[in-house]
Amino acid sequence: MKKFLNHSIFLLVVFFGLHCGDHTSPVPTGPVAASTVPFKVPELPGQAFSDALAKNPDRVSVISGAGPGGLTAAIALNKTGRFDHIIVVEKRTQFARNNTVSIQPMSYPMLKHLGLAEKFKQEAVFSQHVRFFEKTAQTGRFEQIGGAFPGLPESLDYTQSVNDVFKNDLWPHYFIELHKLQTFLAKEATALSNVVLIHGEIEILDSEKPADQRRSVRVKSSSPAYSDFLIQRPNLIVVAEGTKSKTRTDLRFKMVRSPGLENQHWCSGVVSLNGALKKAEVRGHISLVVDRTRGRFSFGIFRPATGDLFVNGKIKNENAGRETLDECMKRNAYDILKHEAPFLNIRMPASRNDIVLPADQSTLIGIEPLRAERITDGSNLVLLGDAAAGWSPLGGIGASFTLSLYPHALMTLTESLNGSPAERAAALDAYGRRVQEIIDFWHFARKA
Ligand SMILES: Cc1cc2nc3c(=O)[nH]c(=O)nc-3n(C[C@H](O)[C@H](O)[C@H](O)COP(=O)(O)OP(=O)(O)OC[C@H]3O[C@@H](n4cnc5c(N)ncnc54)[C@H](O)[C@@H]3O)c2cc1C
Repeated sequence: MKKFLNHSIFLLVVFFGLHCGDHTSPVPTGPVAASTVPFKVPELPGQAFSDALAKNPDRVSVISGAGPGGLTAAIALNKTGRFDHIIVVEKRTQFARNNTVSIQPMSYPMLKHLGLAEKFKQEAVFSQHVRFFEKTAQTGRFEQIGGAFPGLPESLDYTQSVNDVFKNDLWPHYFIELHKLQTFLAKEATALSNVVLIHGEIEILDSEKPADQRRSVRVKSSSPAYSDFLIQRPNLIVVAEGTKSKTRTDLRFKMVRSPGLENQHWCSGVVSLNGALKKAEVRGHISLVVDRTRGRFSFGIFRPATGDLFVNGKIKNENAGRETLDECMKRNAYDILKHEAPFLNIRMPASRNDIVLPADQSTLIGIEPLRAERITDGSNLVLLGDAAAGWSPLGGIGASFTLSLYPHALMTLTESLNGSPAERAAALDAYGRRVQEIIDFWHFARKA
């Protein structure tokens, strides 16, 4: 039973994460919090830096994209001690995504290994305001099944199957806004003497080269204070550019539907509670409600300051007798309110039809899960994070993967990069298979 509950809690949090505070959603979040990327350019000017890199390309790595994937990769590559130069290139000048991501406990041992855990705890919010309600067939009633879960796994064998990594009996979670996570990681990465973080984009040269020959990279700097430079045949190029990766497109990596995936449709939006929630004392309160008997669930985030309830949930009966977007919103809002009204000391609407839906505040999110057919080009280039998973199979858990299984896979890869050509090829291949397992995990897990 405990395992079952844990599993359902896991699923809830994954679903919660998938849609929480979506930057594509119409949730009025006020001014977007943003922080300037802490760029750190090389001490040598462009040409001199290029010459320095050329002396030992085996100890050079380039990472395109300073999302959680690219930045954690930089810190992980530094940890291996195998690189003198780790060059992270980011095209934006600001980290501005203010959607909140839930971080899974399985990330914690890796954060510890990379020396990030204690500072991360200070940056992120522990899940003390999250409550989980579940309606089970046994009782027929919604019961609170969890809240803040104590304890964190101190160690974890990341070489296990992805499924086994998740078979962890402890379910505490941290929540952090994406821009905050990036800023935190960027500061940690740039504090390392061999890591630089440059504003610009990369261009892959020698793209016609045979797969087993290393490609070179031009870093096209966007900084007025730093010029372009060439990196000849670096040992490793990590493409961590997110879902719309340009480098992936330039190199014609094909995107395919991930096996076992299905279309999902979600309603998402804001319900106005006309100020009733302003009385509520709990700020940033989150609640998840699942009706296991009918296989649907909803979650909401209360914003007492604005009197809004951000609602999300799955559209019922996708094919036959499908409810409208408004009906979906009202159903989910009502479910959540039923549980929250006593806690928050607010008055329930008489019926779900009394719930007010402000115009243009609701939307339908269709999820089309994709992944790259190949994860590496067989030379010195690999995809990582959302660049490998074209879209949201990792939506609700992708950041957690970038803090755990991706850096582990990358560190494992580097162990054999300087071996024989056959060893190198085998390591790249193993990395590709592991990343595909990570991407596919979400949907296979749902079926379990
Ligand atoms: C609505 C929503 C909710 C989510 N909730 C959760 C959650 O609760 N828990 C969780 O674990 N995950 C969650 N995720 C997923 C998580 O945000 C992503 O999986 C994670 O951010 C992926 O990290 P990444 O570094 O691979 O890519 P990204 O975060 O997309 O970072 C890519 C970076 O590369 C840069 N870039 C792009 N192209 C270039 C280029 N050509 N040159 C240089 N730089 C470039 C971008 O500017 C960006 O900084 C959520 C995602 C969404 C959309």
